[in-house]
Amino acid sequence: MSTALTFRELPYARESLATVLSTTGAIGEDGVVVTDATLFYPHGGGQPGDRGVFITADGRTLTVHDTRKGANGQVHHLLDPNHGLEAGQSVTQQIDWARRYAHMRMHTALHLLSVVVPHGVTGGSIGADRGRLDFDLGEASFDKEELSERLNALIAADYPVTSEWISEAELDARPELVKTMSVAPPRGAGEIRMVRIGDVDYQPCGGTHVASTAEVGPVQVASIKNRGARNRRFTLTWAEAPGGGQ
Ligand SMILES: [Zn+2]
Repeated sequence: MSTALTFRELPYARESLATVLSTTGAIGEDGVVVTDATLFYPHGGGQPGDRGVFITADGRTLTVHDTRKGANGQVHHLLDPNHGLEAGQSVTQQIDWARRYAHMRMHTALHLLSVVVPHGVTGGSIGADRGRLDFDLGEASFDKEELSERLNALIAADYPVTSEWISEAELDARPELVKTMSVAPPRGAGEIRMVRIGDVDYQPCGGTHVASTAEVGPVQVASIKNRGARNRRFTLTWAEAPGGGQ
């Protein structure tokens, strides 16, 4: 049985009940706990796995150190090996919301970065304090300050962020929708999840996002660095507080 990805439809849910399906992990690893459903985003697409806690029916609080994709559509929650959980038990899942919400804001900001830097994406990663995308820029060049202004204008315009599913065949017919050159969108189930930001961005993505761009808040392009002849690394951070200067 696979794990229902509750975070997909309810990215703002912080706490939920789930039932333990299995606790079999590779021996010597952290204690791997699989549940029937999860609020915990598993590491993927540049977005880190969620952390948080499981609270047992008898009131124990167990730390979830990381979340990973397992085989057969299951999600692996990595706990300390002495978690004591067994199949059939119910647990209350609580994600580290401050961290996850920062990931949602930064992930949405990076989609907007791919709007103002319209070039192929060759890599990227998301953190709570910063995020980065690498682009194959060729001969193009960009100014940090100007990019920051354009990004913050898109954020302030408060575009809705929504998701929908299309078939793999539809995506194959519109290859221009795929901005990432290095990472192919996840396939296999016949359906591809698309994330839409108003009328400015539309691309395959399995990550979690805020509901509207204003929630991202002010950002700044902190640096643009050479990563080889054609590649440039753009790093985004949260803008400094008003009055703190840029
Ligand atoms: Zn994404």
